[in-house]
Amino acid sequence: MSMIQPVRGTHDLIGEGQKKHAHVVDTARRITSLYGFDEWQTPVFEDTGVFARTLGDTSDIVSKEMYTFTDRGGDSLTLRPEGTAGICRALITNGLTQTLPQRVFYTGPMFRYERPQKGRYRQFHQIGSELIGPSEPMADAEIIRMGYDILIALGLEKDVELELNTLGDPESRQIWRDRLVAYFTPLRDRLSEDSRTRLEKNPLRILDSKAPEDRELLADAPDFASCLNETSRAFWDDLRRSLDAFGVPFRENPMIVRGLDYYSHTAFEFVTTRLGAQGTVLAGGRYEGLIAEMGGPKTPAVGWGAGIERLSMLLENFTHAERTVAIIPTSDTMQGAAVDMLSHLRGAGIRCEMAYRGNMKKRLERANKSGAVRALILGEEEFARGVIRLKNLENGSQTDLSADSIIAQLVQEAAGTSA
Ligand code: ATP
Ligand code: MG
Repeated sequence: MSMIQPVRGTHDLIGEGQKKHAHVVDTARRITSLYGFDEWQTPVFEDTGVFARTLGDTSDIVSKEMYTFTDRGGDSLTLRPEGTAGICRALITNGLTQTLPQRVFYTGPMFRYERPQKGRYRQFHQIGSELIGPSEPMADAEIIRMGYDILIALGLEKDVELELNTLGDPESRQIWRDRLVAYFTPLRDRLSEDSRTRLEKNPLRILDSKAPEDRELLADAPDFASCLNETSRAFWDDLRRSLDAFGVPFRENPMIVRGLDYYSHTAFEFVTTRLGAQGTVLAGGRYEGLIAEMGGPKTPAVGWGAGIERLSMLLENFTHAERTVAIIPTSDTMQGAAVDMLSHLRGAGIRCEMAYRGNMKKRLERANKSGAVRALILGEEEFARGVIRLKNLENGSQTDLSADSIIAQLVQEAAGTSA
């Protein structure tokens, strides 16, 4: 019989991996709350139209990465490949389009049918945020600062760089599209097969191509800055001033276009050189048409998403050892006192555990092996004298103390290490 295997591109979160993952989520929850954001949870699957109609037919996600299936009732459903579309759907169906701004934080699994490799999975996880309502560039700057604060809180300030671009408004993009088509049409045969299709359907998408032959031609492609109309130029200037005001360093990169069609004006990516080709860790932009596309009123918004696995991989020196206390009764008659001790300690907020069997030596060995930092040894003779033996498993020293003093001491130690 063959063993049951995990699905290709999925992974279990156990041990240190899960600790890092939780640390990223906890940090993001804490920081986004400081910015007045509230967490939303939306379903992991939606009607296929929620994504297919909004992300753009020629985006990588819609054209080849979605997990779409027909359920038993005959409806076409899709496992969410990203978070924004579901949040916008929820804004509309919960009747919140007139209650703006909405500041939304979300986290959870996302699903994309991609070729699995380091930093690229089929089920991965994101943290993300959306600031829905404001049309001012100040909003873009603030939500970027929030992402930056999360990266700083994770200790990644020196590992990442913000790359910034503008995609302008639809009018500016139309001008650019025409110029790109004029540039690429004579070079059509030298483009990758995907980009030949993009040239017909959505030429801007060529800029997002990873194919070397496309990258080579892109080096001399027309510059978008020359296509910006007055509104777009004003937004772009204002955005850069606002980022300065919020103290976020950035580098302009005209190649940042983002993989989705719904963006306009701001597009940005925090990138790192530490993860090879999978260098984008937190990315997003402004979107003006998405909510209207879904049947809501025209509502401007700006947001970003960040891959938790990629952030976790950067947390190299992360150690988060839990301090555990092992409770060891030396005989069956001490079992009751040991159970009392467990509940007292847990009541006082101390992490503790007890093995259900084995002699004292065995249990001490096991406690040491499990990484426990202290052991409480409950012996009959000591107990009769009103004391319990507290053994420091880190240095081997031991003292006999009353139950109350032990609890007080452990509480103090726990407070000292969490500070
Ligand atoms: P890439 O260019 O690496 O494919 P993307 O443009 O598709 O990224 P987004 O759709 O912007 O990425 O998603 C935001 C973030 O989610 C990415 O910056 C990355 O950190 C993470 N991410 C995207 N796809 C995956 C994946 N398959 N596995 C792990 N993390 C991912
Ligand atoms: Mg991708």
